[in-house]
Amino acid sequence: MTASGKRRIAFTHKLLTWYDRAARDLPWRRTRDPYRVAVSEFMLQQTQVSRVEEFYPRFLARFPTIEKLAQARPKAVREAWEGLGYYRRASNLHALTRVVRKTYGGKLPDDPEELVKLPGVGPYTAGAIACFAYEKPVPAVDTNVNRVIKRAFASRDVWKTAKALIPKRRAWKFNQAIMELGATVCTARKPRCPECPVRLYCKTGSRTLASRLSTVAPFRPSVIS
Ligand code: SF4
Repeated sequence: MTASGKRRIAFTHKLLTWYDRAARDLPWRRTRDPYRVAVSEFMLQQTQVSRVEEFYPRFLARFPTIEKLAQARPKAVREAWEGLGYYRRASNLHALTRVVRKTYGGKLPDDPEELVKLPGVGPYTAGAIACFAYEKPVPAVDTNVNRVIKRAFASRDVWKTAKALIPKRRAWKFNQAIMELGATVCTARKPRCPECPVRLYCKTGSRTLASRLSTVAPFRPSVIS
């Protein structure tokens, strides 16, 4: 195996071990229901997690299934979304449920290439639904993941690197973990490299560590005169 292959494996192993102890308990991480996963992904676009945590259960209580949302009037959907902003997401989600009912027999497809044809679904959301609902080993590169991969691997093709990193049988956990790392440790403004679980396998983190070590004053035994 090449050195970069070994580094990728070590990176993933550290990341998954860290996720076991550091992951936030978020309601959409407790479900594999494709509709519920899709609702969370639409809500999380451009909205803080804490805000979505508040709206998500309320929206699902009103529209618990894809069928219920597909049957709803636009006015009712708008009301249920009120306070979350970017109403266009709600109308896209509503349109999606109607297309899924008509074209896919009421069940969201599991193939990102089919998902991306649905209203409001871009490459990230398609990957997220395929992985978080169906455990497909596909990348889901949002802004957090993009940042982590660029910093860690200096990668020009982030999607390709993300795909190479995914362990086939733990795709769900890997994608959740790398998002979690970007959201809580490898943040946009102040990455916390010294406490990052993958710092030894990250190009940026290992450089930071090396420069910190080189600036520490060398040990000099005291001279007894
Ligand atoms: Fe981000 Fe620093 Fe961790 Fe690298 S070591 S992934 S730059 S926080």
